[in-house]
Amino acid sequence: MDRRTFVRSSALGLAGIATSGALTGVALADSTSTAVEGALAGAGVSVAEATPAWLGEEPQIDEAMITADYNADILVVGAGCSGSAAAATAAQMGLSCICVERGAGVPETREYLGGIDTKYSIEAGVETDKGRILNELSRYASGKCNRDLINLWIENSAEMIDWVDGILTAAGKQGEVTVTPDHETGGTSYLTPSCEHIWEPSYVYPMRNDLFVQIAQEADNPVLFNCKLIKLIHENGMVKGGICDYAGKLIRIYAPYTIIATGGIRAIRR
Ligand SMILES: Cc1cc2nc3c(=O)[nH]c(=O)nc-3n(C[C@H](O)[C@H](O)[C@H](O)COP(=O)(O)OP(=O)(O)OC[C@H]3O[C@@H](n4cnc5c(N)ncnc54)[C@H](O)[C@@H]3O)c2cc1C
Repeated sequence: MDRRTFVRSSALGLAGIATSGALTGVALADSTSTAVEGALAGAGVSVAEATPAWLGEEPQIDEAMITADYNADILVVGAGCSGSAAAATAAQMGLSCICVERGAGVPETREYLGGIDTKYSIEAGVETDKGRILNELSRYASGKCNRDLINLWIENSAEMIDWVDGILTAAGKQGEVTVTPDHETGGTSYLTPSCEHIWEPSYVYPMRNDLFVQIAQEADNPVLFNCKLIKLIHENGMVKGGICDYAGKLIRIYAPYTIIATGGIRAIRR
């Protein structure tokens, strides 16, 4: 979902979080692919037809263990690079949004941000051949990539850099693009596009994602840390929010739109 496609719906209704209760009502399923695939095979279900094994099974949750219900236009799961940006965008668009992050704070990130034909590239006199960068990134992925997604980035990254630039320069940082000439490696000339942007001073608080989270919080949109999504809410075949373990208590967040932003290296490690 891009920044233009958020749609306003219900208002945020925040109630207090109940202060008692432990997570004894949650039975987490064995989510190892071997175990799930084995169980499916035993039931005569082809893995190819079933829920992908790596997703595991949804936990069974005792409704009585839910300590609080919330409503928002959007639930964002994860406050990393994409989740914090989504939460900030929702706030800027006047939407109510709850962002949940299983970590104790805004996750650390590397601050380089890629963009093509940005104001910084133009200032630096950098021209990018869009067809060539599409081919280079596809080659880099041995063709196992979504070229439409790469094109989306190629066509929209300048606007994205403008948006980030407004936030970071307002915080006293100065942007620049790293200019990297093409070079030979092993006799092959690779495209090394000048698309990496950084804002100085970098890697000092507040970093990019800290600022995104601040924008959400200043709009009174909660960013809940130590809050882990454990189950999505399904209604009529649609995802309508999620149930989270919030510091040892179960909370339920209803939202017409849910953005799963749990990808990236921290998730892969687990
Ligand atoms: C060493 C290294 C250097 C890199 N350098 C750069 C760089 O310079 N520029 C660049 O653009 N990219 C860089 N990357 C890649 C970049 O970090 C990832 O592409 C990016 O973090 C992905 O963003 P994301 O929002 O999808 O995931 P993440 O940033 O990983 O955020 C996902 C968040 O979801 C949370 N989460 C997971 N499960 C749940 C749950 N069930 N409930 C609640 N929260 C949950 C996680 O705790 C995490 O905070 C680098 C990666 C590495 C490893």
